[in-house]
Amino acid sequence: MFDINNYEFENLVDEGRQLVITEIGRQLAAYPKKICLCNDCILDIAAMALNSLQPRYRCSLLGSIYQSDGLSDPEYSASLKHAVKVAIERVGSNPGHD
Ligand SMILES: [Zn+2]
Repeated sequence: MFDINNYEFENLVDEGRQLVITEIGRQLAAYPKKICLCNDCILDIAAMALNSLQPRYRCSLLGSIYQSDGLSDPEYSASLKHAVKVAIERVGSNPGHD
């Protein structure tokens, strides 16, 4: 009988998540404008960037052997950088709080 609790769904990971987080750090380290860096704004930026990207789910069962960094795909890498840039600009100029 199928029991949903028998499966390790925590091994289902979106590779894009970590890549977006890393890219936000990279871009903000050299960001020319002053924007809010509070938890809400940074998480908003991450969510916005991730929602505009193609999901990259994979099963992490095999550990890091088959883990690609995603950036070896030039098309994805370009979309990732663009998505983060746009999200920083949008949230930066219009934070979700006062
Ligand atoms: Zn903020």
